[in-house]
Order: sequence, then C-alpha cells, then structure tokens
Amino acid sequence: MIIAIDGPAASGKGTLGKRLADHFGLAHLDTGLLYRAVARALIDQGTPLTDRDAATLAATRLDAAHLDESRLRGAEMGEAASVISAYQPVRDALLAFQRQFAAQAPGAVLDGRDIGTVVCPHADVKLFITASPEERARRRHNELLKRGENNAFETILADIRRRDERDISRATAPLRAADDAITLDTTHLDADASFEAALKLVLTKIR
Ligand code: C5P
Repeated sequence: MIIAIDGPAASGKGTLGKRLADHFGLAHLDTGLLYRAVARALIDQGTPLTDRDAATLAATRLDAAHLDESRLRGAEMGEAASVISAYQPVRDALLAFQRQFAAQAPGAVLDGRDIGTVVCPHADVKLFITASPEERARRRHNELLKRGENNAFETILADIRRRDERDISRATAPLRAADDAITLDTTHLDADASFEAALKLVLTKIR
C-alpha cells in the first residue's frame, strides 16, 4: 500500500505520515529532507543557491538513504530547500530514489508537495493536509522553540506565506492537491485528532 501525503509547510503532514506509517507497519519518507539535504550541501560548500548546475550535481550525488536529519531541520534550511526545489533537474535527480522507496514491500508513506501528483500518481490513498497560515506559524513557532530557535511569530508567519507562494507558483511540480486527493484541514485539530481523522479517511478509502 502506498499513502501519498502532500500539503504546505508546517501543515503537520510529517507527523501524520510517521504515525500512519507506524500504524500500518509501512516505511516512511519525509521527502522535504531530500531537498533540504541538497540545499545543505550547497551551503556547506559555499555555493550560492542560485547555481542550478551545482544544485543538480549535489542532488545527483546525494546519499539519500543516509541523511543527517539534525543538520537539515530549522527555518533556514526550509527556506533554502524551497529555492533549489524549483529547479527541474534537481527534482528529476531525486525522483528515482523516491519511487524506489515507494515500491518497497509491504508499502510506504511519503510526504511532500508533489507525491500524489508526480512521485506516486497511482498511490492507493492521497491525502492533502492543510491548515491556516496562522495556525501553521503557531505550530512551527513551538517546534522551533523546542529546538532552541526563538524566532518572532510574525517572522515565521511571513516565512510560511513566502514559502507557500513559492511552492504554489513554481512552474515545475507546484504544490497542489491531486484531483483524487482527499483534503484534510487540521486548523482546529490537534495532533491526535488529525491522526484519527486521517486514519478514518485511509480506512474508508482502502476498504
Ligand atoms: O516539507 P519541508 O518543509 O521539509 O520541505 C522543504 C521545501 O522542500 C519545501 O518548501 C518545498 O519547496 C520543497 N519540497 C518539494 N517537494 C517535496 C518536498 C519538499 O518541493 N516533495
């Protein structure tokens, strides 16, 4: 079984993906980490994010199975990832790994921006997770505080709006719900209620 989860930044799709994967005994891939790792590689080598060729090379060379997640989280890397993720050759270079991951037995949950539309168009279940920008900023603020990053709420909200805009308006694999995706708005749901609602949707779809 393949479950594809898409949605904007800080919509809670990662947490949801992990919990659904654990529940069904499936592997889980947070595909945002792949784009963050490409951005990290460029930053580490002092290459500007505008260098498309360097970004493509970094994506081609990425050891996607061994990512150091602790160096990829955080607001700066999310922002950088959204810049290099707009380059088609970067997306192409990361596609095979994601499809292979999805093809493993007994199945997988992948979350990102283009899983239902590009990576796994034949997924058994497609969820599009959303929440208001203010609620997503509030969640991201709490998450960053736990990591010791005390960014102002207004700054985070502005970052989220900018990232939404960039992800939605880019020419290649823009953020959008697949035609056959089920949308779940978690603005008024906490993590447990979101999981229960998503689980219900998945069970209804596969029964
Ligand atoms: O999900 P996360 O916030 O970690 O993603 C970081 C950035 O990577 C996103 O803003 C988006 O631009 C990009 N991304 C993407 N396609 C995916 C996953 C992430 O373009 N499947």
